[in-house]
Amino acid sequence: MSIKTVGIIGGGQLGRMLAMAAGRLNFQTLVLDPQANCPAAQFCVAQIIAAYDDTKALERLARECDVITYEFENVPVKAAHFLETQTSIFPPSTALEISQDRLSEKQFFGQCAIPTAPYWQIDSEADLQATLNVNKGMSILKTRRLGYDGKGQVRIQGTDQAASAMAAIHHAPAILEGFVDFVREISVIAARGQSGEIEFFDIPENIHREGILRQSTLPAAIDERLSKKAQEHTHHLLEKLNYVGVIALEFFVTPQGDLIANEFAPRVHNSGHWTETACCVSQFEQHIRAICALPLVKPVRHSDCVMENLIGDDMAQVPELLTQEKITLHLYGKDEVRAGRKMGHFTRLI
Ligand code: AMP
Repeated sequence: MSIKTVGIIGGGQLGRMLAMAAGRLNFQTLVLDPQANCPAAQFCVAQIIAAYDDTKALERLARECDVITYEFENVPVKAAHFLETQTSIFPPSTALEISQDRLSEKQFFGQCAIPTAPYWQIDSEADLQATLNVNKGMSILKTRRLGYDGKGQVRIQGTDQAASAMAAIHHAPAILEGFVDFVREISVIAARGQSGEIEFFDIPENIHREGILRQSTLPAAIDERLSKKAQEHTHHLLEKLNYVGVIALEFFVTPQGDLIANEFAPRVHNSGHWTETACCVSQFEQHIRAICALPLVKPVRHSDCVMENLIGDDMAQVPELLTQEKITLHLYGKDEVRAGRKMGHFTRLI
């Protein structure tokens, strides 16, 4: 079937950049997002303003689109299953389901022989206390669901913080993770097409502050062996998920040169934004190609670069950034500046 219209669930900046990339390949886009005039709507032919689990909205999306994708991993799995009965949705709903729950994600990494930090399932304060009594080092308590950008996480040192840590995450089901002593964080952004072909982007080195990505630098300061190993792990994950589209797999690099997987995102990723400026194909175009059964491009990076996010008041830098050379600025069309809100990014060629 020839594809004319791509449906996008979620209308934030990632949906917006997907819509822009789709437009360049002559596809129309229709976005579903509950917030009117969401960032993606400004580049789509239309927006369906409705909740993500609204059956009528999902029916319309399925009717009007030839293929459907999503820009965030908390799309209700029920909605994805429903859409699967009507049309094609990529990446597959299994990827969505696994990545929504930090416990199933860690277990899945185990099945793919991808190393993770030690972790324990925590369903109550008693579970946490018992685990802390045995594992006395630094650790992080993370809600199993709906945590992003450092939300739903508490660092724990010692054995007397079980009550306050559980209160801080509102007693939600959680996992406790051993704190990884890392020298750097990296991410693999890769795409798998509908006939199983896989392409890897070069690996960025990422800096997070307060759990939010601030900066990605290319190339990462890692050797060939490590980058091959990170790609091998990602290859396993893509195959095991029978994946279609772009995926991001985040790793810690330890002082001993080992890789520890943190999490994967079944979607385009903030640490891949540099690709729109310093690579022959952007992660957004590669994703659209994969889900629309077009050939994937070999992603050739033509420049070293640094991508920086503009978060909240960082928007004050925009007038100055506009005067600088070798910078591409990308703003997300959000009318309200809020602390911790991603408002845009820029990539500096170096
Ligand atoms: P996450 O929400 O799991 O992506 O965590 C956000 C950030 O917190 C990561 O990118 C790391 O900088 C830090 N972090 C998360 N888990 C760990 C861990 N087990 N050990 C050390 N740092 C961590």
